[in-house]
Amino acid sequence: VKAEVLAVGTEILLGEIVDSNSAFIAARLPALGIRLYRMTQLGDNRDRLVAHLRAALADNDLVVTTGGLGPTEDDVTREAVAEAFGEVPFVDPELEAALRAWFGRRNMPMPERNVKQAWRIASAQTVPNPRGTAPGWWVEKDGRIVVCLPGPPAEMGPMWEHEVAPRLAALATEVIITRTLKTVGIGEGRVDEMLGELLKNVNPTIGVYARGDGIHIRLGARAATAGQAQDLIVPVETQIRQLMGNALWGTDAETLQDAVMTCLQGRTLAVVEDSTSGGHLAALLSGTGHAAWRGGEVWSDGPVSIEAARARSAAARVRWGAHVGIGIAASRDGVFHVAIGDESGTECHTWTFPQGMAALRQRVSTTALSLLRRRYS
Ligand code: ATP
Ligand code: MG
Repeated sequence: VKAEVLAVGTEILLGEIVDSNSAFIAARLPALGIRLYRMTQLGDNRDRLVAHLRAALADNDLVVTTGGLGPTEDDVTREAVAEAFGEVPFVDPELEAALRAWFGRRNMPMPERNVKQAWRIASAQTVPNPRGTAPGWWVEKDGRIVVCLPGPPAEMGPMWEHEVAPRLAALATEVIITRTLKTVGIGEGRVDEMLGELLKNVNPTIGVYARGDGIHIRLGARAATAGQAQDLIVPVETQIRQLMGNALWGTDAETLQDAVMTCLQGRTLAVVEDSTSGGHLAALLSGTGHAAWRGGEVWSDGPVSIEAARARSAAARVRWGAHVGIGIAASRDGVFHVAIGDESGTECHTWTFPQGMAALRQRVSTTALSLLRRRYS
């Protein structure tokens, strides 16, 4: 099954809202065995929608749209889908009754404009929307399917989970399973080089992505069943594990902070950061809920130097009676020092990362976690 996702809404093109609906749907297609080759965003313009829908239906088995199902003049998804299929919308009496009942229960008169939300075309079945007035459409014609869902994520999400996904799962002839292997401490180019010929692998495909917590290697396998897809992944994963060795710290949803807490093997941990790094590392570590975490503190306006980081590492150990203390000193222009100390000594490192405060905080935390992992695993 080949699919395209289409987000409808001029607000999206103007950058006023971020298209999270498309990402939500895209993330759920692989498990349904659906291949997504394109995502598109269009404004509330009927002619452009019709032209685009026709082209999308020529290339794909399935098109999923979100947005434009409201009652207003500029909500034109229904009109566009009807025209693309060469059908004429009519008011479905059952839908109209349900719609009037929805307003009735809220003691509100129904604006006549809303009748549009009771429209249907002959090839469309409706997708119930318990959280709003606009039902979705499931249109099936000439071997093609178009699913139309409303724009508000709180309506779209449950409709997808409860109505659309189960129906799509029944159509699936294959599944796509992904596995993410996470590395830290080596750069993107180096990971690519180490993988070498493996990158040309077809099933599973292999992709390399730079993320906040290191370089991720993603394997995606396609097969008739989940078991068969797993079988394709296992030998390639084994090869990659051998190539990456100790740089590989986790898989899939595992977090670097969880991996680090586990490798501490009973040692306790505390942190003193400065206001530039802003308690970011402490928040990550306390979020693990791990017993090894003792506490963190943010100091303001101290010096930015190796000595300052070293002093903070020692202070963290004393303040919380922890085995391991991390001290951080960072400046707004991107220079940072990380010190890790325990009873056997303290190591200090210095880096520069001039990409703004938010990115700096993330980088400082990842660096500290990576150093901890190297020291204790
Ligand atoms: P309504 O009945 O609320 O008008 P609708 O189906 O017509 O629903 P739109 O008018 O296109 O949907 O969008 C309504 C709201 O839903 C937007 O203001 C926005 O908050 C949210 N929304 C729409 N599309 C998206 C999207 N692709 N990603 C995230 N949010 C979206
Ligand atoms: Mg609308």
